Amino acid sequence: MYPVLLQNLILPIAERALGWPILRHLSEILETQWWDEKRLRELQLGKLSQTLLSARRSVPLFQEILGGVPESRIQDEPLSVYAELPYLVKEDVRENFPHRILSKDFSPSQYKKTSTAGSTGKPLEYVVSNSGYGAWWAHHLRAFHAAGYSLGDRIVYIASVRDLTPTRRIRDFLIRQIQLDAYESSDRLFELYIEKIRKFRPRILRGYPEMLFLLADLVERKGITDIRPASVITNSNKLHEFQREYVEKVFHAPVFDLYSCPESGALAFECEKHQGYHLALEHGLVELADEKGRPAADGTGAIVGTNLDNAAMGIIKYDTGDFGTASGRSCTCGRGLPLLDAVEGRAHSLLVTKDGRYLHGTLFEGPFLHTETFKELGQWVDHIQFVQESEDLLVIKMVRERDMNESGLNDAVEQVKKILGPGMTVEIQFVEKIDKPPSGKRQLVVSKVLPERMKDRLGLK
Ligand SMILES: [Zn+2]
Repeated sequence: MYPVLLQNLILPIAERALGWPILRHLSEILETQWWDEKRLRELQLGKLSQTLLSARRSVPLFQEILGGVPESRIQDEPLSVYAELPYLVKEDVRENFPHRILSKDFSPSQYKKTSTAGSTGKPLEYVVSNSGYGAWWAHHLRAFHAAGYSLGDRIVYIASVRDLTPTRRIRDFLIRQIQLDAYESSDRLFELYIEKIRKFRPRILRGYPEMLFLLADLVERKGITDIRPASVITNSNKLHEFQREYVEKVFHAPVFDLYSCPESGALAFECEKHQGYHLALEHGLVELADEKGRPAADGTGAIVGTNLDNAAMGIIKYDTGDFGTASGRSCTCGRGLPLLDAVEGRAHSLLVTKDGRYLHGTLFEGPFLHTETFKELGQWVDHIQFVQESEDLLVIKMVRERDMNESGLNDAVEQVKKILGPGMTVEIQFVEKIDKPPSGKRQLVVSKVLPERMKDRLGLK
């Protein structure tokens, strides 16, 4: 009964009140995913041309970039116009935000302001139109559908969810989702969560892979056998193969990984066949570029996205900082959405403290980096990285942009120490540059302790 009410009455009313057309987008894309790729590409090109035209008309930065290109050319050959555009990097977005990169056609009530974590330690602010937010949610729900979800099914989400606004709470209540915050976790906290999950009996268990992994570990140690979701969905952070195998084993449920870089429109999900990640062509134009900005010859390259559903801001040919590998195969499920073999999104480690807590890497982004101390530090530092070298040593590596004031630096160290708790030494190291790992993906937080410890215990190498 509830799913019928939800779909036909509750969500339509809520959508109108909140201004997010989730259901309209969802019903469209549940159909278009079965189109063949050629037809989907045509739909995508139409949306690309609309996106470029609207940016040329109303976004100052793109008025400059595209001003000399005739409208008719954008309409007729959007892809060749796109090919000539410069790449937009995070620094460009920061420098032009808000006045030069927001659309003049939108008033603040027509968009939602938000921010995303930065892998170099600098968060990024952006806005998404109400319609774009609805589309973004619809694409997530479509990915959930591919994992066996139907509207009205109960979901538990375990992630870093500190700022649950009243609107989010209402949304969660309506779609029957509960969110469990594991920003800072421990066995004791996970024990409480296990009880909540047993009581709520979710059909879908979703969250950050490293947190689901820790949860599975505790569930197994305690011999708990009655948490039986139909599917597990992971997102936000890189899913390692050993995590997938272990979580599937403990919960007796398949894991579906989802990649999404919200500001860029790049989103890709696994379907029931698990043959790769289906790219949501309707939501974003994605190209894989090599270091010189050419299409990646070996198929692996930087994920560059153009958001086709967010006219409130010009996010066009935007380097996400993530990496992907094209598949070249099509999936036997019949969806026309092309496949990526692999995606390399954020790769956060969990830090482990002397008093047995796990601290999620996002703790060092968002709210923490928004504190006055770190805002100030951000002006001096070009790049920052937190590395847990051993059980009692955390090193903060910094690439200095200009000289910094000593007391500010001490404040920062004190704040980090407070978070880590007793027994941990915090050292600052100034370095020329911070090396990228072989994947090429920058990491804000690296732990050399927990992965080894977990692998040892599980007999994995
Ligand atoms: Zn498929």
